[in-house]
Amino acid sequence: MSQRQSRRAASYADAEAVARALSPSYPVYLLRPHQLAANARAFLERFPGSVLYAVKCNPHPQVLRALYEAGIRHFDTASLPEIAQVSEAYPDAKTYFMHPVKGRAVIRTAYEVYGVRHFVIDHLNELEKVLEETRKGPRADLVFVVRLTTPPAAGTLYHLAAKFGCSESEAVELLQRAQAAGCQVGLAFHVGSQCRTPGAYGTALEICGRVAAAAKVKLACLDVGGGFPADYVEMVAPPLELYLEEVRRGLTANGFEGVDVFCEPGRALVASGCSLLIQVQLRKEDQLYVNDGIYGSLSEMVDAGIRLPVRLVRPDGPAPSPEEREFVVNGPTCDSLDVLPQRFRLPADLREGDWIEVDQVGAYSNALATNFNGFYPETFVTVEDAPLARSL
Ligand SMILES: *Cc1c(COP(=O)(O)O)cnc(C)c1O
Repeated sequence: MSQRQSRRAASYADAEAVARALSPSYPVYLLRPHQLAANARAFLERFPGSVLYAVKCNPHPQVLRALYEAGIRHFDTASLPEIAQVSEAYPDAKTYFMHPVKGRAVIRTAYEVYGVRHFVIDHLNELEKVLEETRKGPRADLVFVVRLTTPPAAGTLYHLAAKFGCSESEAVELLQRAQAAGCQVGLAFHVGSQCRTPGAYGTALEICGRVAAAAKVKLACLDVGGGFPADYVEMVAPPLELYLEEVRRGLTANGFEGVDVFCEPGRALVASGCSLLIQVQLRKEDQLYVNDGIYGSLSEMVDAGIRLPVRLVRPDGPAPSPEEREFVVNGPTCDSLDVLPQRFRLPADLREGDWIEVDQVGAYSNALATNFNGFYPETFVTVEDAPLARSL
């Protein structure tokens, strides 16, 4: 962790205050710890089990800190650096190794150095590998969480079950083998990111119910994964409560009372916790050239086709014209692909030097940014106002 990252970021009232104070010609992430805390509380108060934050979604130390301070103590991690980051910053937090494919040395270090006991698997060879690399300890405290594949749910942006997860019959065998080896067992799935159909969780829990009945094992845990959606333009998420109702109903209907339940939200916890302040470097008629793009913070606009709320930030200039127009937005790199798929609707008198606040970028933004062509967004400050998405 660099010194820059470990410092608490400077705090401002809002994007205007940041623009006035820093006059930044580089992109600036505007973190909203109060919003991250509110999102965390919504899950912690209402989810019927442990809430594991999916670290890959946004591993920035200030994001982890805001979630930790709001009460998140469990973390879904997928690599040794993620495990190390969380464990070293928060010794009382618990990390879970949720990647179904792990290097041998990585398993050993996670187990011996960081005390990880939950390992996700979706294949017999991975079960054997983890058993071999954790030979030093008692079997009874190892928990093998079997990742099941689930059918593609309508309206999800990524079908995460396409790459990982095993069939029902494979899951039955894995559960029985792991239990026969003296370990505890659980089941997990991921319905896909930005899942807009709450029923997908019910369908997946039915599959879990069939597998658990067929395997005749005692489940130590059941992990309903991530996938809970965030609000984007023309893609307002159904209320969280509908998802949680579906989870509660699915748990009861499939006989999982008394089993420890986990969820692994990423996007829904952090998307609204951060916006991005970018600057217009040049305007050519309806074309804007800005200082962040698809190789930086905004790759999800391409990969997931999401549209983000935007507004003009001009703290000291003339009042913006009431008339609006649509602009094509070009990113900073020399690659001609670096053009945002979404046109921005903004005041018609927009000009070089103006800033634009792009909201709802807390998820999969800085986590995916590259330094292609020397453009790397890495400045974080905190702001105290409400996210723009309220008005979607
Ligand atoms: C990415 C991921 C998550 C988080 O998914 P969201 O859609 O951001 O909620 C949770 N669990 C696993 C195993 C993941 O790979």
